[in-house]
Amino acid sequence: MTEINTIGVIGAGQMGNGIAHVMALAGYDVLLTDVSQDALDRARQLIGKNLDRQVAREMISETDRDAALSRISATLKLSDLGTSDLVIEAATERETVKQAIFDELLPHLKPETILTSNTSSISITRLASRTDRPEKFMGFHFMNPVPVMQLVELIRGIATDGDTYDACLGVVEKIGKTAASAEDFPAFIVNRILMPMINEAVYTLYEGVGNVKSIDESMKLGANHPMGPLELADFIGLDTCLAIMNVLHDGLADTKYRPCPLLTKYVEAGWLGRKTKRGFYDYRGDAPVPTR
Ligand code: NAD
Repeated sequence: MTEINTIGVIGAGQMGNGIAHVMALAGYDVLLTDVSQDALDRARQLIGKNLDRQVAREMISETDRDAALSRISATLKLSDLGTSDLVIEAATERETVKQAIFDELLPHLKPETILTSNTSSISITRLASRTDRPEKFMGFHFMNPVPVMQLVELIRGIATDGDTYDACLGVVEKIGKTAASAEDFPAFIVNRILMPMINEAVYTLYEGVGNVKSIDESMKLGANHPMGPLELADFIGLDTCLAIMNVLHDGLADTKYRPCPLLTKYVEAGWLGRKTKRGFYDYRGDAPVPTR
């Protein structure tokens, strides 16, 4: 089986920094890259802060934290990832961006390097088909926030071979998380089930069946969900929710996945949730206030 010691992480945004964090803590050498030096600096700071929080909660020791930080290097040069045993691409969710990254990276990679993407919705088989190693390509899909969430979806493209799958499964086990094996169909497992529920919550709001507060309270108290669906949508980002609904709608060609017009309207307004301080709740004050 391919031995994994060095992991390259592409994209130092909210997912990339979490992936670097958990990999370094588990003992892997991590090389983190981004097009923005600012993103790399912020990621390093955030990883330090999140590791400090784990020390404060006595989940790890100060020695573990220092060792993890020393295992992470950052670079602006994608070609520096050429020596990695495993590459996890976690750059912006746009197919042209991911395609350009793979085109630039491939000539520098060792033939045995396993190439993966953390994409939430783009076809693994299609991404793999444009590389020189479709059998060594697969989906490595973490949940947000990475250091906290237990699940990783491992998605096989049509050509992914057994050794590649087993090597990635070994990594998931070493970082102490649980893998769910998913086939490469739109939005895989978690988002295939979660997003239509969120979309239905937005329809429930759109049709006036409930307001933001009553919908979220109903699902928290009536279905024992830790967060209401609209609160959760704001956390994920309404643009991301809409993009995934569009992938389901287009990819499965079924009207049951049509995005709610109210979700589209919020996105058009730039009310994208927590990241823009307004979504189904307004976060500009001390406490979130429902917007409907
Ligand atoms: P983000 O916007 O926080 O970060 C993306 C990073 O990629 C940015 O720092 C950007 O500078 C960088 N980037 C853009 N082009 C690049 C390039 N050519 N080379 C290197 N870096 C580049 O996005 P995110 O939320 O971290 O999402 C990253 C990936 O993870 C996406 O594919 C997304 O679908 C997936 N994902 C996101 C979530 C989530 O909840 N946010 C959950 C699971 C998977």
